[in-house]
Amino acid sequence: MFCTMPADCLKSSSEIRQWYEEKYYSLSIAGLWLKGGEPNTMSPALFSESEVRFLICRLSTYRDVSASISHALIAQIAQETEGVFTDFAFLPPPKDLKIMIDAKIPLWVGTTTKEPPCAFDVIGISNSFVLEMLNLPKLLLFSGIPLYKSERIDQNTIPLIVLGGANAAVTQTLHGTVNEQGGKNHYGLVDAVFIGEGEYAVKQFLEIVKQGKALGWTKARILKECHGKVDGFYEPDKYEHRYKTIVQNNLSAQELSEIAPKAPYVSCPVKSAIVYDLDQTRTLESGPIWYDPENLGSGSIQISNGCPCFCSFCAESWERKPYRERSLAKLSESMKKAKALQGLDTINLMSFNFNTHTELYPMILSFYREITNVNLKSQRFDLLSTDKFLAEVQRIIGKTTVSCGMEGISERLRRYLHKNLTEDQIYTACEYLFENGMRELKIFLIYTGLENKEDLEEFSRFVESLADLKNLSHCKTRVIFSLTRLYYPPHTPLQFDICKTALEENKKIFIAIENICKVNAMEFRESASHEDTWLMQLLAMGDRRLTPALIRSSIADDFIYYNTVPKQVKKNWKIYLEESGLSENDFFQKKSEERILPWDEIDTGITKHFLWKEYERSINFTEQDYCLGREGIEVNCTGCGACPTATHKKSLTQHTTFPPFLREDIKHVADGKKNQITLRVIAEIDPVLRLIPKRFIGVAIARSLMMALPHITPYYYALSGYIGEFIDGKPAVDFAYGINIYHLSFLSNAITEEALQRETLAGKIAGIQKYCSGFSIHELIPEPTDKSDVKFILYKMQFPPDISESLIEQTLGKYLHDTYVKHTLLKRGGGIIFKVNEKSKKKASVIYARIDASTAGHENGFQLIMLVTQRFDFRSFLAACYGFERRREIIRTKIEALGYYRRKIDLIENKKCVVCNSFIHEDTFAGKSAKENQCLVCSIDAD
Ligand code: SF4
Ligand code: SF4
Repeated sequence: MFCTMPADCLKSSSEIRQWYEEKYYSLSIAGLWLKGGEPNTMSPALFSESEVRFLICRLSTYRDVSASISHALIAQIAQETEGVFTDFAFLPPPKDLKIMIDAKIPLWVGTTTKEPPCAFDVIGISNSFVLEMLNLPKLLLFSGIPLYKSERIDQNTIPLIVLGGANAAVTQTLHGTVNEQGGKNHYGLVDAVFIGEGEYAVKQFLEIVKQGKALGWTKARILKECHGKVDGFYEPDKYEHRYKTIVQNNLSAQELSEIAPKAPYVSCPVKSAIVYDLDQTRTLESGPIWYDPENLGSGSIQISNGCPCFCSFCAESWERKPYRERSLAKLSESMKKAKALQGLDTINLMSFNFNTHTELYPMILSFYREITNVNLKSQRFDLLSTDKFLAEVQRIIGKTTVSCGMEGISERLRRYLHKNLTEDQIYTACEYLFENGMRELKIFLIYTGLENKEDLEEFSRFVESLADLKNLSHCKTRVIFSLTRLYYPPHTPLQFDICKTALEENKKIFIAIENICKVNAMEFRESASHEDTWLMQLLAMGDRRLTPALIRSSIADDFIYYNTVPKQVKKNWKIYLEESGLSENDFFQKKSEERILPWDEIDTGITKHFLWKEYERSINFTEQDYCLGREGIEVNCTGCGACPTATHKKSLTQHTTFPPFLREDIKHVADGKKNQITLRVIAEIDPVLRLIPKRFIGVAIARSLMMALPHITPYYYALSGYIGEFIDGKPAVDFAYGINIYHLSFLSNAITEEALQRETLAGKIAGIQKYCSGFSIHELIPEPTDKSDVKFILYKMQFPPDISESLIEQTLGKYLHDTYVKHTLLKRGGGIIFKVNEKSKKKASVIYARIDASTAGHENGFQLIMLVTQRFDFRSFLAACYGFERRREIIRTKIEALGYYRRKIDLIENKKCVVCNSFIHEDTFAGKSAKENQCLVCSIDAD
């Protein structure tokens, strides 16, 4: 048996903050994932006065979910409820987990407030996919939260634990009973689940929590009040799962026989929440700008929800029906807001298939006018094959990487997967993409476990012909086939099928498909291992009897899912099953229509009978057309039951799309983008943001400009440069604070020419400053004519107290010696000057250096002043200062950039320095200027 006592974690945010400030450098990505305070997050000052404190928790790491919109959208929705405060918490990265546990830091600490989870009223878990559930027990326990609802429910000091997200309808393995030593029964890793879409449900729930808190209700009362008032509200412990013994092949086994509600006020089944009219809710506009260099400047808006197709394997399709669209008018408003609030130059149009949207063409044209990059995600091959112009449009707007799902390797298998996709359609679509010179085409394939010789032959012929087509088109498109194992999700037709791909690891088929691709000069990738598929399938098909195993995996065997399931973990799970008297066959075998399934108390809108009929069609390799109207194709409603009204049905079956714009229209917009105005921004970064990627500040500057001057928002183009790039982009330079120089580009037109005039801008700096946090704007210079070829940078460095002055003196001396910088050491006022010889200066990496001895004015003891060139290698110098053992501490060095200098081009004046009598060769570019009539070195020396 293992201990399920909650960890004794720190309970005070000031202690947690102090720990963070002392130890950030030992954490992954310099502790940025736990820093908090990103633009568009709430100020921690509001925490204490708020009525409901809501901690939005992820089961994955900050980095893994920074591109996801779900947690940011929950925060946006929650903030629409007055008096609600939101903060975020994430799964710590692998290395940080032990550090935090050893230091008694709750794993799910609020990143901005540094408040422990128990200081909040509600923990809202956003669960995106099945395998993430494996992380829940450990995250709860090592956040100081009792594992079971049965222990928590009467403790008002423990927050309510609710779960929602894309995987919410497949969480049955979290809701089982656990028999602990002493015969006590426990249940409920979470208190309640939100099934379906949260746009209304989250608000309805938070209003009830607010009311309950004000009236002093117990947690049980608050949850009870939610039934019937919160869309998709599901309290799992209010449903009993009963089992019966069955005998098969002389072996007896337990099988789920009944699901019975335990209270009269709960609905059975629970209807999944659906927002039928997307225009009544907002897509993500005010998402935080995460400290993640990869996604800076890029944001997403959801243009539609649900999918009109019926792919038998697609959970999203079956759980999110019917297909709905947000109107262009609403999307335009949101896009403008999102652009300004998040400093965007790229907008991702999120949908299951963008090429089904009625207003796709007008949307592309109008968005492309107002934002630099319009990124279209996910498109269907069949729709692309009937629209040659769409491939051309994608090329014109710069989208040269395309992903499409082919799924089955043959038409027979595509019918099993209900893909409604013929080989001809794939060819035609690929032809259009090749003709338009796409850089990369990624084709997704699914291994179904049903592949036979004929399927492989058909695939071989197809790939060969595709290669010929590519050659004929003379394009250089990189074609990548990505093969994954079929996952049979609950709530889909394939829920009834035998989970062949989990039961068998058929490497031969993988090798055969890989060979076919490679022989034809196509790339091949395998995504997700057999172990990943097996465990994902087990957790999805499993029932409440798996809860003890899930807890054992997380707590006793210490397994945290970080994107991969090791072989040993699969072996462990087989042992758990065996010791529980279960086997994979209990879950992976075929199921009849009558079989009670562990998720039957949830109604996602499609009847079980309809799913069964679809399943029968699949296994007979037949399919019927999907119900979205398309030009020249008559379609019918097949009666899946998802549409709420006859009008909605009609809107799908008689769906039409707006005609495309003229080629010239989009070309005209593309050409107009070539004329740009550059705005140079001299900014000063506060020490608090010193470890943040420099690009982040540039995006935050763009945000503050667009917030303060909304009329220039449509014309902001991109961040085109910053000092990290002027030097060498090396990370060592990247953690300097102080002065930095950013270049932002805007489309050139009458509005920007007027708005971006130097005098106009000078009067706006104070207004822009209101939107800056952690940095200030010193100067805005439109259309700088001077070159930005920075040659020298002046830095001030301060080291942690345990790095001695003599060590720095010695290390710098050695560095200069090793890099052939001839110099003389001079003592002055307790400090040391490294005076670089005149002749050596031309090629030197350090032009001047000085160690100023400790004085009252230096916060951290002594300081090192250095004037360096691009050749100065920060990383190796700092590595030598700290030594190998302490190399992670390099980032504790506080490096302040004081000024940037160029080599003077115009020496006509031939001015000489009044101190050293040599010619003045340097010009101040930004920051601290040289003294009048003095050269730069003498100016610095005189400080
Ligand atoms: S086209 Fe098929 S796979 Fe794609 S979202 Fe729709 S149902 Fe799912
Ligand atoms: S109810 Fe009919 S029109 Fe609506 S999604 Fe289902 S099949 Fe299509």
